[in-house]
Amino acid sequence: MKPVVALVGRPNVGKSTLFNRLTRSRNALVDDFPGVTRDRHHADAVWDDIPFTLVDTGGFLLSDDDAFAVEIREHVEIAVEEADAVCFVLDGRSGLSPFDQDLADILRRSRKPVFYLVNKIESLRKQEEDLAEFYGLGMEKFYPVSAEHGLGLDTFLEDLVAVLPKTPLEDREEKEIAIAVAGRPNVGKSSLINKLFGEKRVMVSEHAGTTRDAVNLVIEKDGQRFRLIDTAGIRRKGKVHQKIEKFSILKSLKSLDDCDVALILVDASEGVTDQDITIAGYANDRGCGAIFLLNKWDLLKSDEKDEKRFMEDLRMKAKFLSFAPAMTISALTGLRTHKIFSMVKEVFEEYSYRINTGLLNRIIEDAIFRAEPSLHKGKRLKFYYATQVSTRPPTIVCFVNYPEAVHFSYKRYLVNQIREMAELEKIPIRLLFRARTGKIDFSDKPSSRAQARYSEKRERKDTKRRKERKIQSRRKKERDQKGFQDGSV
Ligand code: GDP
Ligand code: GDP
Repeated sequence: MKPVVALVGRPNVGKSTLFNRLTRSRNALVDDFPGVTRDRHHADAVWDDIPFTLVDTGGFLLSDDDAFAVEIREHVEIAVEEADAVCFVLDGRSGLSPFDQDLADILRRSRKPVFYLVNKIESLRKQEEDLAEFYGLGMEKFYPVSAEHGLGLDTFLEDLVAVLPKTPLEDREEKEIAIAVAGRPNVGKSSLINKLFGEKRVMVSEHAGTTRDAVNLVIEKDGQRFRLIDTAGIRRKGKVHQKIEKFSILKSLKSLDDCDVALILVDASEGVTDQDITIAGYANDRGCGAIFLLNKWDLLKSDEKDEKRFMEDLRMKAKFLSFAPAMTISALTGLRTHKIFSMVKEVFEEYSYRINTGLLNRIIEDAIFRAEPSLHKGKRLKFYYATQVSTRPPTIVCFVNYPEAVHFSYKRYLVNQIREMAELEKIPIRLLFRARTGKIDFSDKPSSRAQARYSEKRERKDTKRRKERKIQSRRKKERDQKGFQDGSV
């Protein structure tokens, strides 16, 4: 178990902004409306190799008027009780409120380490002035920070991790696979989530756009944890409805930023639409793993169930995701939905794969050996060395003398070679070219395999040349002899 750090404070002080900054995700909605962030958010953060779980308790109260409600006080007390440390966020702009005083009293009694952050302090010059009134709370130390601009957080984090019980990074639980479910309204996202994650936590509706705020759901299957990002939509948000609606579309795309594998839902009963392709394009830009799910297959009449035609149509329209597996399903009847998690796992395994540098270089050498790139302004393109710099997705940097001169079709050729040879067939691969000059390049120093082929080829050439030379010299001899006989020499 990682230590837990609770973020407390009244609405609008910047808790979710801070939460997002520390966990580097866009899990919580940030808005000027107080109380928009309703659900308790948990996410992992790491500082100085020390991992901890951050809990944003933003959902406790909807307005300052709720501040003294018994229920809320209880909530805060429970959160504090569960936490190893508490981070009390205050607003340096609007100053102290009665609620702050009340909360400070609760925290003082908790005997947990509490860090008092005064947020929204963007100017060092005014810092002293801004902090002055907070000393009235009776604490000794305040951390002036700006969650939005990332100021002052280092000092706070250093002090925070110093009080946390130590759990080394290696002890962390196995990596969860983060899944996002994307698709235009009404394709069946909530229905699928219900099917996959079992709980009826997500409301399903006949009307488009029921799906709204975000909650993370986690499930374990065959020893692998799957985390659903941005499970949307629990309750209606009344007045802020319109604005949230806009957010949620943006957010459903944003969820692709944080996911390992995106399930891109398409409504098979309506065919592949432009909007589906736009969403797929976004997944492609993000470089996440992707699986196409053609949903509502049950709605198609038997003579319409031409899977091949659907797949061809999809492949033609979404050429850029040609590697993404596709499957027809029904979130309603459960048709093939049981295959989804294992498919996600397969994609994820490739997605996190690290190609051995030796192998990678041999693949590229070999590819170059088989098809040389065209000349660049009369000069030869030289590829020096390739290395995988990161996973998720596998990202490869290849050093070249003229990076800008590598034609996109040649790049595609290389990516396809890597894909095939390293058996990474279901995921995107990023290949970047960087400039480097040097004396040794692949064609000067071929690997053993390429070397073998090369010398074989040379030998054949040499034999041919030797044969030719033999023939020539024989001919010459014959000519000489003839000339001699003719007396013309
Ligand atoms: P929460 O209700 O405590 O979770 O607060 P939010 O994170 O939603 O932030 C409320 C508002 O304060 C948003 O409009 C943020 O953009 C703004 N905010 C948060 N942190 C900062 C900061 O460091 N400086 C400034 N100027 N504004 C901030
Ligand atoms: P979302 O807006 O993408 O979250 O879509 P919902 O999950 O709310 O589904 C929209 C409508 O389509 C609901 O009426 C669902 O019952 C229906 N639906 C979802 N999946 C299927 C399916 O596989 N087959 C059929 N027949 N209806 C489905």
